[in-house]
Amino acid sequence: MISIKDLNKSYKMGANSLHVLKGINLEVDEGEFVAIMGSSGSGKSTLLNIIGMLDEHDSGSYVLDGFVIENLTETKAANYRNKFLGFIFQSYNLINFKNVVENVALPLYYQKVSRSKRKEMAMGYLDRVGLTNWADHMPNELSGGQKQRVAIARALAARPKLLLADEPTGALDTTTSHEVMRLIQEINDEGKTVLMVTHEDDIAKMCKRIVRLKDGVIISDEKINQVRA
Ligand code: ADP
Ligand code: MG
Repeated sequence: MISIKDLNKSYKMGANSLHVLKGINLEVDEGEFVAIMGSSGSGKSTLLNIIGMLDEHDSGSYVLDGFVIENLTETKAANYRNKFLGFIFQSYNLINFKNVVENVALPLYYQKVSRSKRKEMAMGYLDRVGLTNWADHMPNELSGGQKQRVAIARALAARPKLLLADEPTGALDTTTSHEVMRLIQEINDEGKTVLMVTHEDDIAKMCKRIVRLKDGVIISDEKINQVRA
């Protein structure tokens, strides 16, 4: 599903350049559940953003589902994102002036699904995360855990092959974190590939493989026995 070879990324800032990813090699098969760990500043989000086509690498190769990802126009990147990817962020990234069901339906709009069908499908995904009663509420009326479940429903609505999550439990208390992880585990049980950035050990143990980054290189990569949330 993902094949990354000798990938490098630097950020240029005026005359200076910060080499953030220094020769990353990573293969991820369909159905895997991978935690990307490492201390703050180690390049986790940069790697996830490149995988998610939100940012571009400088050298090396990245192949996603058989497509070589290189020098994409913004339109082409957006098309691939809509087709392949679901995103979950620490800060939820819900649209505050749209209600819950409209937020969930948004990827379907970009996939040109008709309005009535969008609503029906979005309600299905809200049911999946246990929030049908909140469909007409606005995001600011929800708790953090509920917001993240809406974000998960929205990610699922894209019917992605790959779910990318950057610190999805980073803003949640332990109990709520575990609820969110249980949901993501169930989604992975159904066969969805999941890549998750986290710096929390107990969250990483709920994945099935841990890749550790340090200063822009992978220092370990191991399959683990998954702890159920
Ligand atoms: P992590 O997610 O592991 O905390 P990041 O990938 O966000 O790390 O950042 C890695 C390094 O790159 C950090 O030193 C950060 O300050 C820097 N960085 C991240 N994004 C940018 C950017 N857009 N421009 C310049 N530097 C950046
Ligand atoms: Mg980060």
